[in-house]
Amino acid sequence: MDTTAQDVFVPDSYHGHREVWGLQAVEVTAWFGTRMVLDRVSLHMRAGEVTALIGPSGCGKSTFLRILNRMHEMIPSASMGGEVLLNGEDIYGPGWRLTEARKQIGMVFQKPNPFPAMSIYDNVVAGLKLTGQRVSRSVKDDIVEECLVRAGLWREVRDRLRQPGGALSGGQQQRLCIARSLAIRPKVLLMDEPCSALDPTSTRVIEETIAELVEDVTIVIVTHNMQQAARVSQQAVFFLAEENQPGGVVEFGPTPAMFGSPRDPRTADYVRGRF
Ligand code: ADP
Ligand code: MG
Repeated sequence: MDTTAQDVFVPDSYHGHREVWGLQAVEVTAWFGTRMVLDRVSLHMRAGEVTALIGPSGCGKSTFLRILNRMHEMIPSASMGGEVLLNGEDIYGPGWRLTEARKQIGMVFQKPNPFPAMSIYDNVVAGLKLTGQRVSRSVKDDIVEECLVRAGLWREVRDRLRQPGGALSGGQQQRLCIARSLAIRPKVLLMDEPCSALDPTSTRVIEETIAELVEDVTIVIVTHNMQQAARVSQQAVFFLAEENQPGGVVEFGPTPAMFGSPRDPRTADYVRGRF
């Protein structure tokens, strides 16, 4: 594991030249109390690809993402079954602590949530601190810059790194959250409707960021925007919860096939907007 504390860590590039890891869900089932909300979801989110999760509200997409980075277990009534394999290792297995899973698998939410009173610089450093690495000031500067560059925010904020994160626009705040997540050096980035609260221009910038990030981070994105799913993802999953039933996978495959020639009529209706 590459997250052990080191006295001085001097990266050539903080992110480059790393092995990319895939994430596999095996028969994942979720409950809230006695109500089953996900039924045996098995998916392979391939290394170095973007997987788009699509489906109507309430079908369990967010719950599924929370299971992928062990946030589901923080909800008191929640329980689950199945396995989540990161590079083949079950993150729920013995030897995997919650904090370890969180470091490897980052999450970005619909509503940007930077620490609003903290400076832009310190927001990114907050991510870095979670890795347990102690770094010199100049290395810290380099890492902050690299994360902001990768999140597509550097040029806009380089001259005002000391301003509070809360002073940025919504789209900038979302990119700051991405930069903060990147500072943890995750192998996987989960994005739950990351552009739903953003204007079209910010959305475009984030899509460009996703396209670049995926070279060394595996990405899973929930989106209600079919054009966005088609633009950013290599594979797509259609989740559906039939009435009074738990959510499950209807169709999973390469994105062009999912949108061009869906196999299941329910997928066809959804991707063509007939839902
Ligand atoms: P989606 O993200 O696809 O809209 P969610 O994963 O948020 O779906 O929700 C799946 C189902 O689980 C929904 O029926 C929702 O009402 C229920 N649910 C979500 N969160 C909770 C919770 N904290 N407690 C109880 N039920 C929940
Ligand atoms: Mg959701």
